[in-house]
Amino acid sequence: MTATGPTGLDELIAFAGDMIGDEADAWDRAGTIPDDVVRKFAAQGVLCAQVPARYGGLGLTSADNGELTAFVGSRCSSLRSLMTSQGMAAWTIQRLGDKPQRTAHLPRLAGGEVAAVAFSEPGAGSDLSAMATTIEPDGDSVVVTGEKVWITAACYADLLVVFGRYGSQAAAVVVPASAPGVTVERVPEPLGCRAAGHAFVRLDGVRVPAADVLGGGQSTALLVTAALAYGRISVAWGCAGILRSCLASVSGHARRREQFGKPLAEHQLVARHVAELLAAERIATRMCAHASQCWDMRSPEMVSATVLAKYVSSRHAVAGAAAAVQVLASAGARNSHPVARAYRDAKLMEIIEGSTEICELMLAEHALGAFA
Ligand code: FAD
Repeated sequence: MTATGPTGLDELIAFAGDMIGDEADAWDRAGTIPDDVVRKFAAQGVLCAQVPARYGGLGLTSADNGELTAFVGSRCSSLRSLMTSQGMAAWTIQRLGDKPQRTAHLPRLAGGEVAAVAFSEPGAGSDLSAMATTIEPDGDSVVVTGEKVWITAACYADLLVVFGRYGSQAAAVVVPASAPGVTVERVPEPLGCRAAGHAFVRLDGVRVPAADVLGGGQSTALLVTAALAYGRISVAWGCAGILRSCLASVSGHARRREQFGKPLAEHQLVARHVAELLAAERIATRMCAHASQCWDMRSPEMVSATVLAKYVSSRHAVAGAAAAVQVLASAGARNSHPVARAYRDAKLMEIIEGSTEICELMLAEHALGAFA
């Protein structure tokens, strides 16, 4: 069961705010979040707050989990990245696992263990059908062999949910990060989300129980779409958070800083940046809220609404963070400033969980089907 602690949205936001404090910049510079902070977040179930109460989770709706994700994203995109990975691992187990697998693994994720999800490989980025990692049955075990790249949270992880080829189809498998044959090597100097524990992961003949294979024998496209849906909505809410942080920095600075005898906010070209940031934040939030509503109502629109929210929010976050740096100018032109961090972090959001171009292909396919 989840440890005693905050459970409602307001309490969870207060808990996250207290834990993060003013430390996000220090974590970014150090390239790591202190282990006790990660463990406390994990133990409270905050990293995967949508896990149902019957599996020991907080059982938040997608809408509430989204607001929690946006709050954390407004303070620290690295920690928000851990929420995305852990939530995606839990969602994968929930969607692809059977009841014994859900009962075995979800309480671990909701109760303190940290997880990462591994799809990408040197030869398989946007095109995950090119995955070369193999999950080979061998008696009561499977043997996992392959190379994964850029795995968020892998440096902190107890568990890895690894996707790979399973005969002529695909599967995911739960691999303990401490299993013999697993090697985790930190990605040096990432552009942004620098404390998110990105790593290259090698799996050299790693043997795990066959009972830990999830969704075996389905197509790669079906498996990864199920898992990535969570990653996309989480990133989208994180981008709404980045925009909220930029809006706060820009509004404060534009009111305080004077040039040509009046506050920057009274120069109309600066005011336009403020207006565009507000519009961007509102659009991103509305798109995310709509997608979450689809999740909470189990609407068939859920997948397309999620892709749309991720696409729109990440593009607005990139443009909004750039505008924020422009308004703060030299005041924001230091790596340690929140708008500089937002600028670096936001760009990565256009690459992960389906790049902007891959989202465009999916949205075009949806439009061509829906409006034919
Ligand atoms: P490529 O696939 O080589 O694409 C290069 C460019 O070409 C992109 O702009 C892409 O949009 C474009 N492109 C590719 N195909 C097409 C097409 N058909 N049409 C139009 N344009 C196209 N992976 C994981 O498995 N787990 C993680 O936790 C994880 N976390 C990550 C965190 C970060 C910060 C980063 C940077 C990456 C992470 N990744 C993770 C990997 C990420 O999923 C891939 O980087 C992403 O899928 C893109 O793959 P790629 O980098 O190989 O780019």
